[in-house]
Amino acid sequence: MKTALVWFTNDLRVDDQSSLSAAIKENDRVIAAYVIDPAVTKHTSYGFKKMGSFRAQFLLESLTDLAAQLSEIGIEFHVFFESAEVCLPGLILNQNCSTIYKLYQWTTEELQQVEQVKTHINASIKWKYSYDQFLIPITEFPYPSIDQLPEVFTSFRKKIEKSVTIPFSTKLSVAQTHKSTVRHSIPTLESIGYKQPQINPTTAFPYRGGFTSALEHLKKYIWEDQHIKTYKYTRNQLIGTSYSTKFSPWLSNGSISARQLYTEVKAFEQRYGASQHTYWIIFELLWRDYFKYVSLKYKSKIFTTNGINGREFAHRFNPELFHQWCRGETSDDFVNANMIELHQTGWMSNRGRQNVASFLVHHLHNDWLSGAAYFESQLLDYDVDSNYGNWMYVAGVGNDPRNRIFNTRLQAQHYDPQGKYRSLWLQKKLF
Ligand code: FAD
Repeated sequence: MKTALVWFTNDLRVDDQSSLSAAIKENDRVIAAYVIDPAVTKHTSYGFKKMGSFRAQFLLESLTDLAAQLSEIGIEFHVFFESAEVCLPGLILNQNCSTIYKLYQWTTEELQQVEQVKTHINASIKWKYSYDQFLIPITEFPYPSIDQLPEVFTSFRKKIEKSVTIPFSTKLSVAQTHKSTVRHSIPTLESIGYKQPQINPTTAFPYRGGFTSALEHLKKYIWEDQHIKTYKYTRNQLIGTSYSTKFSPWLSNGSISARQLYTEVKAFEQRYGASQHTYWIIFELLWRDYFKYVSLKYKSKIFTTNGINGREFAHRFNPELFHQWCRGETSDDFVNANMIELHQTGWMSNRGRQNVASFLVHHLHNDWLSGAAYFESQLLDYDVDSNYGNWMYVAGVGNDPRNRIFNTRLQAQHYDPQGKYRSLWLQKKLF
């Protein structure tokens, strides 16, 4: 009897999940695992946890939802709070797994995890990788090699739009329909070292982790409320649940795939017609893909001070100014409001992110890596490629060598003319 292990990472769903569907097709029995590495729950040298409590809670909700879905199709699911090299080799040996299916991740820590597991298991065990994090399938990548990825997004986008047919998402088809008898136990937030986060009820992201709530949101945002019809006009706003799609936290941990979102947008276009608004959501998903390809091209360079374009980045870490920025105690009300929103909810709009990042780098003259690390800790939707890619971009060490300097005063006047956003988070009337 051939048994396979599906090692879930940022692909926490059962539909449109190549590792799971391939494992089911090619084996007699499939088991699944997810590893919460204790390292991510520890404090970094900046003084905060690598994964903050908002994301930790969102992750546990996502795992609980995944466990229920796997149970429906009779798949045992093991969730560990141990490093992968400690927990997986025993599982692989005891369950006699001959193949491991996993999302391919090329970033430093993720690669190390796999390498360490490999040193503890039999070399004959096969590894099969999927690339489900991309919207553009890696097999359709329209250049001879990753080295030929253009340095400018627009060239990439135009090439994709001209030459690539993006596939629609797929549903899992399973013969196994018996429920799993194994009780899936997901750790509690407290057991992995967190306190329940106090989420401010005004949050722009009042949703739970997991595919079920992603699907509910998809139905409501796209089909019922049809906010998709005005997305391009509203996407730079700052308050509420509907100015942008809010799919990023689910996309980041893979509770929903970019292909699933794309498929739904296309279905909407089929029924109601395409528009600049529906187009722009796909345009943003291409940005997401672009940063993934950039990260694949440059690997660990995306974590270095001088980034990927070789330009010398002059600013150094100033702990005092950095912590003022984190706490929302700078001289700039607009930056402060955004930082307080992030601190109280784990969410910040794209407009806010651009402004606070620019302020840290170009106004406070601080190291951009510290800002990226704080976002990594706080953001519900932290995604390694989008986070470090966007930070490098703003800092002028990424794909755009120009300095992306935002005049935060003018930005506040333009995007928050009556000061409503600032009043909301600063709890005071500004005007
Ligand atoms: P929408 O406007 O509805 O866009 C739809 C989807 O397109 C998003 O869910 C996202 O997957 C993708 N997208 C949109 N804008 C971008 C972008 N600039 N780069 C990459 N993908 C994009 N996004 C993350 O998902 N994780 C991060 O860790 C992250 N860190 C960021 C750090 C900085 C400094 C900046 C400026 C941006 C960062 N972004 C990050 C990108 C962007 O801010 C968020 O994707 C977006 O605000 C999420 O909200 P939404 O889902 O409503 O987006």
